[in-house]
Amino acid sequence: MRTQNRETQAELTPERAKEILLEGNRRFVSNLKVNRNLLQQVNETSEGQYPFAIVLSCIDSRTSAELIFDQGLGDIFSTRIAGNIVNEDILGSMEFACKVAGSKLIVVLGHSKCGAVKGACDHVQLGNLTGLLDKIEPAIKAVAYAGDRTAQNAEFVEKVAEVNVLRMVEEIKKRSHILREMIESGEIGIVGAMYDVETGIVTFYDHTKGISEVLNEELAGEY
Ligand SMILES: [Zn+2]
Repeated sequence: MRTQNRETQAELTPERAKEILLEGNRRFVSNLKVNRNLLQQVNETSEGQYPFAIVLSCIDSRTSAELIFDQGLGDIFSTRIAGNIVNEDILGSMEFACKVAGSKLIVVLGHSKCGAVKGACDHVQLGNLTGLLDKIEPAIKAVAYAGDRTAQNAEFVEKVAEVNVLRMVEEIKKRSHILREMIESGEIGIVGAMYDVETGIVTFYDHTKGISEVLNEELAGEY
């Protein structure tokens, strides 16, 4: 499989970019990874890069975007930070990816059993990590669940992880006027997704569904 070039990138729509990632994840899950010549891709990308998407995922060692979407060199921008949170520098990186380098899709990718989300649920305080986990706090507060709200409750943790992804999608649109304009004009797309560390499957969220609808879906436990 050849890497993206200026022409193939320019022809892509945000919807097609999402399909390419989905197809890659299906190959990953069925162990049918494309046989890439990475050294050849080094040569092909030596004069420039034309990645079709930027994926914001967790630093978790199981959530490498290139691996789980079966992509090669020069195909996607990969931004990784614990808890897949957004800050100014990450917004700047996304603006570069989309406005300057021509990427068509922003993906905020959370994952199940996320240590950062669990740490935030337990209000862990540890050096500089404290400030990072604070950025997940609004997602915890948004989940109105009266039962066990600690990392011990797997269902609560997964709900917070989902809300955190959707919140970050909203943050990106709210805090970057450059990206917001590109999204509104249809030039780029933005979507949240969740990676299941037990199956390897990525599920894209319905981008028409807002946080409030997700919050209204009850947890099995008591409120
Ligand atoms: Zn994580």
